[in-house]
Amino acid sequence: MNVQNDGEQQGDNNENDRNTIPKITKLFSRAMDQFRLRVFFLFLERLYIIISMSIILVLLSLQNCGWNDLHYWVLFSSIQAVFSLILYGQLFHFSNIQSIQQHLAFHYVQIVFVPINEVTDHPVAPEVYDPTANLSTMELDKKADIMQLQIRQEIVNQSKFCKYNNIFSNVTNQAIFIWTIYYIVANPYESSKEVDCNKWPIIQTYIYGSFLFLQYSQYYLLVALALVILPFILIYLLIRCFTDRKKKQEALKALNDLQKKKILYKPNILEGEQECSICMQPYQTDDEVLQMPCSTLHHFHNTCISAWLQIQSTCPNCRQQLLPENLQPLLQQQQQQQQQEEL
Ligand SMILES: [Zn+2]
Ligand SMILES: [Zn+2]
Repeated sequence: MNVQNDGEQQGDNNENDRNTIPKITKLFSRAMDQFRLRVFFLFLERLYIIISMSIILVLLSLQNCGWNDLHYWVLFSSIQAVFSLILYGQLFHFSNIQSIQQHLAFHYVQIVFVPINEVTDHPVAPEVYDPTANLSTMELDKKADIMQLQIRQEIVNQSKFCKYNNIFSNVTNQAIFIWTIYYIVANPYESSKEVDCNKWPIIQTYIYGSFLFLQYSQYYLLVALALVILPFILIYLLIRCFTDRKKKQEALKALNDLQKKKILYKPNILEGEQECSICMQPYQTDDEVLQMPCSTLHHFHNTCISAWLQIQSTCPNCRQQLLPENLQPLLQQQQQQQQQEEL
């Protein structure tokens, strides 16, 4: 199998090149077909919108209907559809140009070199030479779907007008869609007296609304999903924030109690390492040291642990939550020790 990354490698195996011909993969051909079909349908949709809206506008003026905002919707939608029509027409035209197809296939590494004696007129490589021919239909469709979007992005950049028209069309499509949804949901002209003047424009709102919904359904569903999930995330964050604050307050309260029982360091007065694991410094005689309730081995400088507990509410060594109620056994133990020493 002879798959090349791009044209640059061609110089290295001249001998090979003379006997092979580049062909596109099954995946690329599928993605290209999908793209062309999609763009063609969008073109037809817009053509239908422009023709039907124009007929409606002529009828409206013949019937002497006064202008209301629904009639402006018809006018603006048809003007906007003209720009989209040009866009999809251009995309379809570019996608049919052989050199652009070749360039894209090289760009996405979808070129396979086939020995000249096995080449057919078909632009797609024979299955033996094509790594994408082994993919299952489902995988192929999924990959072609993604590649189709990439192809669109590349083809849009073929001309400046196309590039700006793409942005303009996408933005105005959303504006028209929101405007259309307003008529479908609020239905302000349903029961009006001028039913004859509004009947066809109302039908058009349903048609154009469904066209736009189908065109952008993937994105709309994503937005809808995000809107459904967002409140839950916010509630979760609020609860987290509230409990974190409560934990921190409790830890600071516990610190207050701990500080009443601080130890003045003397050699071998503490168990375990004779250094503070926050600042990594060995204890010096008469350093103020606090012992955590979680373990007699967990002790730190008073200043170090106080700074730590401003940010965290847990023991730096074992991550156990520092709670006032956990202190009781420790305080009792220390009291007993003091009493024993006094005796
Ligand atoms: Zn320290
Ligand atoms: Zn600990």
